[in-house]
Amino acid sequence: MNIILLGPPGAGKGTQAERLVADRGMVQLSTGDMLRAEKNAGTDLGNRIKAVMDAGELVSDEIVSSLIDENLARLDAGQGVIFDGYPRTAAQAGTLDGILARHDRKLDYVIELEVDEDALVERIVGRYTCAKCGAGYHDKFKQPKVAGTCDVCGSHDFKRRADDNEETVRTRMAEYRAKTEPIIPIYDARGILRRVDGMADIEDVSVAIAAILDGK
Ligand SMILES: [Zn+2]
Repeated sequence: MNIILLGPPGAGKGTQAERLVADRGMVQLSTGDMLRAEKNAGTDLGNRIKAVMDAGELVSDEIVSSLIDENLARLDAGQGVIFDGYPRTAAQAGTLDGILARHDRKLDYVIELEVDEDALVERIVGRYTCAKCGAGYHDKFKQPKVAGTCDVCGSHDFKRRADDNEETVRTRMAEYRAKTEPIIPIYDARGILRRVDGMADIEDVSVAIAAILDGK
């Protein structure tokens, strides 16, 4: 089973990918992670990547293709793959088909975690954590039982991430739309695009994804 998981930052894509890795032994091939790993490994390819990144340039499609090729070659035939952050253009989608075919694989599903932008903004902007133990809270959905006191450790210090603000979230959403717009119609036409309500509870999203993968 080989899938592409799509969803804007904050849609819970990382959590769902982690579960697929843990529950089904799938391997997540994230473009960003692969680039960093190769660069740190100091291989010839890694050094080329480092040179491109240090120059502030975008890594070429050819390099990303080589990385995916190499990573697929390391896997057992039975291990499923979750692609994350690739493809982002129609040309890359075609390239991915070719790479998968070389490894006797094919893309089974493209799963998009759909979000309501306003609700996502509300969900992200309102969240904060205990500065001491990391317990998660939310202005609207999960206030501490005693105002200003952490339920778990009793601390009175809380913190918010600087990028959890409306402007950043909306910018990330716009970037996501721009990156996925070229590829969604390709997979939709092929009949392998599936949409899941990313605003549902984490558990419900997992169940919906499992139903797709199990062909239910
Ligand atoms: Zn705490």
